[in-house]
Amino acid sequence: MTQHILNISYLIASITFIVGLKMLSNPASARKGNLLAAAGMTIAILATIFLYQNSETGEHLHNHLWIFGGLLIGGIVGTLAAKKVKMTAMPEMVSLFNGMGGACAALISLIEYNHISHIISYTPNSDTHSFQSTILIIAIGLIIGSVSFSGSIIAWGKLNGKIKDYSFSGQNILNLVILAVAIGAAGYIVVHPQHQLIFYTILLLSIIYGILFVLPIGGADMPVVISLLNSFTGVAAACGGFLYGNKVMLTGGILVGAAGTLLTILMCKAMNRSLKNVLIGSFGGGATTASGGAASGQGSYKEISLSDTAMIMSYANKVMIVPGYGLAVAQAQHTCHELEKILTEKGVEVKYAIHPVAGRMPGHMNVLLAEADVSYDKLLEMEQANDEFATTDVVLILGANDVVNPAAKTDPSSPIYGMPILDVELSKNVVVNKRSMKPGYAGIENELFFKPKTSMLFGDAKKVLQDLCAEIKNI
Ligand code: NDP
Repeated sequence: MTQHILNISYLIASITFIVGLKMLSNPASARKGNLLAAAGMTIAILATIFLYQNSETGEHLHNHLWIFGGLLIGGIVGTLAAKKVKMTAMPEMVSLFNGMGGACAALISLIEYNHISHIISYTPNSDTHSFQSTILIIAIGLIIGSVSFSGSIIAWGKLNGKIKDYSFSGQNILNLVILAVAIGAAGYIVVHPQHQLIFYTILLLSIIYGILFVLPIGGADMPVVISLLNSFTGVAAACGGFLYGNKVMLTGGILVGAAGTLLTILMCKAMNRSLKNVLIGSFGGGATTASGGAASGQGSYKEISLSDTAMIMSYANKVMIVPGYGLAVAQAQHTCHELEKILTEKGVEVKYAIHPVAGRMPGHMNVLLAEADVSYDKLLEMEQANDEFATTDVVLILGANDVVNPAAKTDPSSPIYGMPILDVELSKNVVVNKRSMKPGYAGIENELFFKPKTSMLFGDAKKVLQDLCAEIKNI
């Protein structure tokens, strides 16, 4: 009976994961989807704690103090971190949490290996063959989980600027050798599970591989890597589900693995790059934050005053706003919505052009603008926006840089060459708001700023938008 209730709980949890994931694909239902999946996870955890029964001994879980102690500490740390995190630091947090997931999967492998190794050493003449399939899953979980852990920690360090890109000649070959040795050692341990040293060597090699694999990857490619590591963690967790015969862990792991893989492919597509190119191409010019040197000698740029900007926007038929990372930094989404409303009242058609990798996480701009209650039908995806620029009078770029850099189309030597961009140049006027001439995330100059159609409107996005709203109201 208990087993039936446990299975039903797992089924309910699995359904909530699938439905929740589906709801995440739309900003309007995303929050509810997240809560639904979290509720399902709570059911799965509580059902396991109170209903799980060992099939051989019939025992229930009894170490409740440890379990609830861990849940409490993890719950408090997770809640505080999620509440305190700034939107711009979300990818770092996702990366760190993903690393913890990888570490958990690797720990499961370590514990289960120790368990088997204990049985082997205390049972002379035990048949090691009977453990082979279990050891295989343990080894796969160990490699993938450890790579995900160390890779995610490096990604976290790179995203917050603490770790710089690092590569050396022959690094890709060394990486392949390390991975091949780890896989070979895993094959060995499956046949000879008693050799503990080999097992710990696999752990060490996998951690080193994770570090070396992420270190050289350039700034602008980090979203793809994070998504890939996320899918690794899912696969490693699914291995845990296999080990324990736990259906909900298996389903959850497969969903994360599949969703992460799909997202990785979609992001590669958005950047017009192959995954292989991302992983071994060292794309992105090395900058890991939106700091960098001042632009050097592309020619001269012209500035525009607030009142002139207010004037051309007020008398425009159509204005397209291009939000970028700087808008998130300035937390100017509400003021941006205010500007949209003021312009709309004046009869101006206002839309937003959303680049798939604008900001610092997939869907960053959608989330940011949804927070300010911007209507979804005003958000245009890149392809739709590119079709509409030719009929746009003013493009207002708010803290975006790489996603409007024409070098991606025109300069084969540019590290972002090939990435589709928003073709803002097709419009009649381009106004760029940022604080200086510093480059964006990829660390490269932007020739758009020096084009005849472009005018620079310097200042913090929030302050500039507030002043712009005031000016336009007075026209
Ligand atoms: P960028 O990082 O290219 O540029 C942002 C610009 O905002 C900077 O040039 C900066 O210039 C300006 N800025 C910063 N603060 C402010 C402020 N307070 N007010 C006004 N402007 C400000 O941003 P994009 O959105 O164009 O491009 C995103 C980049 O991030 C891409 O290269 C993408 O690959 C990468 N990336 C994307 C992720 C994702 O999943 N979306 C994840 C990780 C990276 P200044 O300092 O002069 O003000």
